[in-house]
Amino acid sequence: MLIVANRLPVSVTRQRDGNYNYQASPGGLASALSALGRESKIRWIGWPGLMDPKQEDIEPVEKKLQEQYDAIPVFLTRKQIHRYYYGFSNSVLWPVLHYLTDHTHYNERDYIAYIEVNRIFSEKIAEVVKNFNTEDIVWIHDYQLMLLPAMLRKAFPELRIGFFLHTPFPSSEVFRSLPYREELLQGILGSTLVGLQTFSYQRHFASSVLHILGIEPAFDSIQLDTHTVHMGTFPISIDVQKIRKTVTLPSPEEEQRTLHYMIRERKLILSVDRLDYTKGILDRLRAYRKFLQRNPNLSEKIVMIQIAVPSRTEILDYQKLKYEVEVMIEEIEESYEHQTLSPIRFLYRSLPLKSLIRFYECADIALVTPYFDGMNLVAKEYVAVKKDTGVLILSERAGAAHELSEALLVNPRNPNEICLAIEEALQMNEEEKKQRMTAMYRRISRNDVYHWSDFFITQLSNVDTVESEDHTVYLSESHRARIFKSFANSFRRLILLDYDGTLHEITSLPMQAAPDAQLLDLLQKLTQLPNTEVAIVTGRERKDIVDWLGKLNLIFSAEHGLNIKWLHEQKWHNMTPPHTEKSWYRQIRNVLENYNRSTPGSFVEEKEASLTWHYRTVDPTLGKWKANELIIHLKNALANQPLEVVSGKMVVEVRLQGVNKGNIFDRMQELGKSYDFILGAGDDVTDEYLFEAMPKSSFSIKIGKHHSHADYRLNGVTEMRKLLEELVSL
Ligand code: UDP
Repeated sequence: MLIVANRLPVSVTRQRDGNYNYQASPGGLASALSALGRESKIRWIGWPGLMDPKQEDIEPVEKKLQEQYDAIPVFLTRKQIHRYYYGFSNSVLWPVLHYLTDHTHYNERDYIAYIEVNRIFSEKIAEVVKNFNTEDIVWIHDYQLMLLPAMLRKAFPELRIGFFLHTPFPSSEVFRSLPYREELLQGILGSTLVGLQTFSYQRHFASSVLHILGIEPAFDSIQLDTHTVHMGTFPISIDVQKIRKTVTLPSPEEEQRTLHYMIRERKLILSVDRLDYTKGILDRLRAYRKFLQRNPNLSEKIVMIQIAVPSRTEILDYQKLKYEVEVMIEEIEESYEHQTLSPIRFLYRSLPLKSLIRFYECADIALVTPYFDGMNLVAKEYVAVKKDTGVLILSERAGAAHELSEALLVNPRNPNEICLAIEEALQMNEEEKKQRMTAMYRRISRNDVYHWSDFFITQLSNVDTVESEDHTVYLSESHRARIFKSFANSFRRLILLDYDGTLHEITSLPMQAAPDAQLLDLLQKLTQLPNTEVAIVTGRERKDIVDWLGKLNLIFSAEHGLNIKWLHEQKWHNMTPPHTEKSWYRQIRNVLENYNRSTPGSFVEEKEASLTWHYRTVDPTLGKWKANELIIHLKNALANQPLEVVSGKMVVEVRLQGVNKGNIFDRMQELGKSYDFILGAGDDVTDEYLFEAMPKSSFSIKIGKHHSHADYRLNGVTEMRKLLEELVSL
C-alpha cells in the first residue's frame, strides 16, 4: 500500500552545519496507518518539507528516508512550493472548498505549477508501482493532489486508486466558481474509490459531477467509459485509546503549575485551532465579548483560552487574520484591565498532543465554532478526554457535527447564538453533561481512526477493478479481413446503416446534420456495388431522410422502423400493428405538454408513431426527477395500451409497442428476401434492436463506447466511413 500525501510523516530540515535532521511527526493519518502496517507493507510518498535540496544530498536523504521510514520523497523547489502549495492549493482550492470565495487569489501560473507538481508525484508513483499486482493500493490524500488520480489511471488502467478529501466538498454552485473545475473533477474521477467526510459532501461531489461534467451518478458510484468510480462517506477520527492512555498518566508538575497559573480556580472555556479564517475565531471572540458584557458578575470567574497554531503564515490573508484576532483580544483585555486577572488568554503556538490533553482535561467548555470544517478533530479529542463530563459547543458546519449531535450545536456566524450557548453550558447540570458526553464518547470510541482507515481500505480492496467482460470487441485488422473475405465471397449483400452518430457526427440542431458531399459520394458508390443493397435505418422522420438522400438507390427505414420504403419503390409501408387505436396520441401529448409547462427548458417532439419529451437543456437534477415521475405517470396511463415507454439519453419516449429498428428483418422475411452477407452499424440504444434482430452470421458494429449487443466496435463516424470506403475499394 502506497500512501500519497502532500507531506510525508517525517520532516527533513537542513541544519546550520549542512547536515540534515529527520523528525518523525506522526499526525493522525500516520498513526492510523501504523496499525495496518503490521499486516501490509505501507510506503509513503510525499514532500519531506525540504526546499531546494543540494544536488549531492538528494541521494543520501532519499536512502535514509527509504530505509528508516519507508518513505519516498518528492523533492520540490521553493518556487514550486510557493505556487502549487501556497498559491493554487491554499489560495484558491482551500477557500473555495470552505465556501469562503472572498479569500481566493487566483494566478494562472499557480495552476500550471499545480499541474506540474501533480505530474511529478505521478511519475514518482509510476516508478514504484511499475510491476503492481491486483492487490496493491495507492491511497491519495487531499486537495493538493486532485489531478493525480486521473494521471495515474492513464498510466495504470487497472490500478486500485483511492482518493480521500479531508476538507468539505462544497455545493456545486460554489465548486463551479473554480477555474478549471472540469479538469479538477476529471482528476478525482481517475480514482477507484472517492472518500468524503460526510454524506452531504458526497452529495455535493456527485451533484458537481452531474452539473459540471454532465455525467449522471448513481447513488454511490459513477459509471465512466473507462471504469467505475465508487463513492463513500468515511468520517475521519482520532486514536481514542492513545488519548485515554495519556489521560491516565500523571502530568509533569511544571505543566500543572503553568495551567494552574493561567486558570486560577476559574471556569475554563477552551478553543483550539490553526489560525485559519475558516475557523470562525473572530465571531467566536465577539460572542465571548458579548457574554462578558451580559454577565458582568462572571468576568472574574471565567477565563477563555484561545490556542492558535501558526499556519500558512506566508499568505497575506492569514497575516491579516492574525492581526485582527490580536486586536480584538487586546480590546477585550483592555475592557477588563481593572480586574486582577484577564478573562482571556491568547496562546499563539503549537503544543504537543500530550500538553494539549492537559488543557482539554481542565476545560469546562470546549468552544469549537468553525465556519466550515471538513471534520474537526479538536471536537473529537475533547470528547475522548472528558468522557463523561464537560460541555462541547460545536459549529453545525463542522463535519464532526454529523456524529456529535449531543453537543450544543450553534451557527458559527451568529455571535448571539454562541453567547447563549455559553450561558446554557455554564448552567447545565452534571447529569445532563454526563448523558450528552457519554453518548458522544461511545460513538467516537467505536468509530476511531483505526476503524476509519480500515473501512476505507476494505472498501477499496473489495472493489472489482476489472470491468465485467464486454463481448463487443474493437474491430481489429483481422476482423476487418474476415468481413472483407465474407463480402467478397457473397452473392446477396445487405448493409444497414444508422444515420446520426454513425454516418454523420451528432449536431446540436438536428437540421445541421445534412450529408456532406463526401458522404453522398460514399453512399452512391456503396449502392453501385454489385449484388449489394444498402438501407438507412434511422429514427428520423421520412421527410428529412427523403430530402437528403431520396435521390440515392437506398432502402429506408424511418422513425425507428415505423415506415419502410424498399428499393425502386415510391410507396412507404406503414408498420403500425393492426387495430392500433389513434386516441392514445392526444392523451399522451396532453401528459407531456403538462410536463413541458412545469419544466423550464424541456420540449416535446412529435412524430407519427412516437412522442418524445426531451430534457437535455433542463437543470439535470430537476430533469431526472421529472423524468422519473413522468415514467411512473405514463406507465399507469398506458396500462392495457399497445405502447411502450422508453427512457433514453435525456429523453422519455412513448411509442408503439413492437415498432423498432429490428422490424426490417421481420418484413424482409415475410417478403422472402435473404442475404448471405449482412453488416449493420449504429451508435444509439435504439440500434440495439437492430443488432439483436440480425442473424448470427452477420457483422454488427457499435459506434462508440457504451455497452452493446453488437460484435464489434468502432470509435466514431470517421472510422465507420473509412470501413465503408474500404468495402467500396474492394
Ligand atoms: N493540535 C496540536 N497542537 C496544538 C493544536 C492542535 O497538535 O497546539 C492538533 C489537534 O490535536 C488536532 C489537530 O491539531 O489533532 C487539528 O485538527 P483539526 O481537524 O481540528 O483542524 P485542522 O488543523 O486539520 O484544520
